[in-house]
Amino acid sequence: MRCAIVRETEKGETRAAASPESVGALVRMGLEVAVEAGLGSGCRWPDGLYSGAGAEVVGDRGSLLGAADVVLGVRPPDEAEITALKPGAFRVGFLDPFTRVSLVNRLAGAGVSAVSLEMVPRTTRFQKLDALSSQHSVAGYYMAVLGAERLGKVFPMMGTPSGTIHPARVLVIGAGVAGLQAIATAKRLGARVEAFDTRPVVKEQVESLGAKFVDIDLGGTGESAGGYAKELTDEQRAKQQAGLTAACGRADVVITTAALFGRPAPVVVTGAMLREMKPGSLVIDYAVSSGGNVEGSRADEEVNIGGVRVLGFSNFPGHVAVDASRMYANNLASFIAELWDPEAKKLKIELGNELLEASLIAHGGRIVNETIRARVEGSVA
Ligand code: NAD
Repeated sequence: MRCAIVRETEKGETRAAASPESVGALVRMGLEVAVEAGLGSGCRWPDGLYSGAGAEVVGDRGSLLGAADVVLGVRPPDEAEITALKPGAFRVGFLDPFTRVSLVNRLAGAGVSAVSLEMVPRTTRFQKLDALSSQHSVAGYYMAVLGAERLGKVFPMMGTPSGTIHPARVLVIGAGVAGLQAIATAKRLGARVEAFDTRPVVKEQVESLGAKFVDIDLGGTGESAGGYAKELTDEQRAKQQAGLTAACGRADVVITTAALFGRPAPVVVTGAMLREMKPGSLVIDYAVSSGGNVEGSRADEEVNIGGVRVLGFSNFPGHVAVDASRMYANNLASFIAELWDPEAKKLKIELGNELLEASLIAHGGRIVNETIRARVEGSVA
């Protein structure tokens, strides 16, 4: 089986879907691996590292794709890629299937077997394949470092003969994988950290990192069967905003990572809350590209709202491309290993398989994932 790894075409995408190590793992499994020339340029991995690991380096993207049985990428495929793929090709990467309805239809129409990594179950069984977690982790780290770099104020407490520096105060709203990593990093940098999340189970995790949980009584919030947050009612939202206004006012840096699975991100910092913050403080919005957690945030811009700087990047993990790519590439190699039949030397595609049932979106000319099919049909009706 021939496995191709494509270079990302989206502007500003620095990550690669294979590292030299993951190519080695795929080759050892028994796949024939080909990578597009320049694949690792965003990570400063020259083509020679990939060929040294056993991959063929191919300059012509069309022939790379046309010969591939399996294709690995980071971002969803563009039209040129879909056109070049063989019918039946198995394509693995992020797909954003809840919002990219026409892309899902197009992949099904082209007979591509398309996997969405966003849909991999978030369980211990599949944690080695969990690309959302790997990318959230590095992004969480990066957001804390970005806050420290941009604030213009020292993070840790320092007692010096020239005066005492008080520790910077960081507030993290949304303490899933990204938020917890932001908390851990900000703590290591010496900041005083507070955090809030609507899922009650998170309080203990926040406290175990040495941060203070902001207690706001929202009544029942709970979480879905998949561990995801439920959407708040209007009344709960108003209570949360009231409870977080004072915490935002205390903070030098606010990092927001609140997300709702399959839906636009909730607004957790309103314009009114920004107006209560100290001039010069900084708000970093992880959700800027998926609806925005902060009123007025704009992707890849620093917006000044009444003296408070609001910043959000469309590709946070891409700012730490080397480790983001390395972890993502491991996730993909683990995904392939999960389906690989070493005797037949091919992928075992069985629709009843727990992993494929959750993550395979298009197959055999149809949309095979029930949740996504319902979403696509709902948006067409
Ligand atoms: P996510 O990106 O979907 O959401 C980020 C955080 O935002 C979540 O903690 C969520 O509760 C919070 N949130 C949503 N609305 C909010 C609001 N209005 N205000 C404040 N916070 C809000 O979450 P994630 O990091 O992708 O994690 C999703 C789930 O998957 C979690 O339960 C996590 O523990 C679980 N998980 C499990 C494993 C595993 O191996 N078992 C691995 C990774 C993640």
